[in-house]
Amino acid sequence: MNIKQFVFNPFGVNAYILSNSNGETILIDPSASNAREQAALSDYIKSENLKVCRNLNTHLHLDHVLGNAFVERTFGIKTEAHKDDEFLLGLQNEQAQMFGLPCNDPAPALGNNLDEGDIVEIAEIKLQVIHVAGHSPGGLAFYCANPGEVNGQKAPPLLFPGDILFAGSRGRSDLFGGDEFALVNGIKSKLLTLPSETIVFPGHGPCTTIGDEQRWY
Ligand SMILES: [Zn+2]
Ligand SMILES: [Zn+2]
Repeated sequence: MNIKQFVFNPFGVNAYILSNSNGETILIDPSASNAREQAALSDYIKSENLKVCRNLNTHLHLDHVLGNAFVERTFGIKTEAHKDDEFLLGLQNEQAQMFGLPCNDPAPALGNNLDEGDIVEIAEIKLQVIHVAGHSPGGLAFYCANPGEVNGQKAPPLLFPGDILFAGSRGRSDLFGGDEFALVNGIKSKLLTLPSETIVFPGHGPCTTIGDEQRWY
């Protein structure tokens, strides 16, 4: 597969574009918040001849849902996320005020709910859905056990944990339904048990590995 990363919106969300050799594409948190970012996203998709098949959100905090309306309008694809975060779509204005973010293009309703054990799959790309509550009630991580070659090189397993796990830290647990105990427990039992060589592509900041994060717990 190919992985393209953009860093979008004032909160610096990592938006990931996963595509296979047919050009079929899975978006993770596209999160483009203005015309310039939307153009960067759609220009890349056009120039690479990609076909957007799925739009996954790791969770529904405002900074991660900012691109959903644009993706639905432009590519006709609805967003998929965990139902326990759906209430956050009703709090977009509150979050916008709280964080000083724009909310001119509110995220639409979800098209599908994802939960623990679900598989999101297109040719060459198979993602297992892992649910870790605590940063938000419906936080999801997407795990690819056998990515094959990534950007032309043989790759170890990959994990896209949104704001559950960062390089050297983890998401905050003091927002809308956060729970520090559940967060730490979920990280320890479901993420840090993955192979230590797994590359972690978090929702903000640089990549890390499961092995590097295990030493903090
Ligand atoms: Zn978040
Ligand atoms: Zn975030």
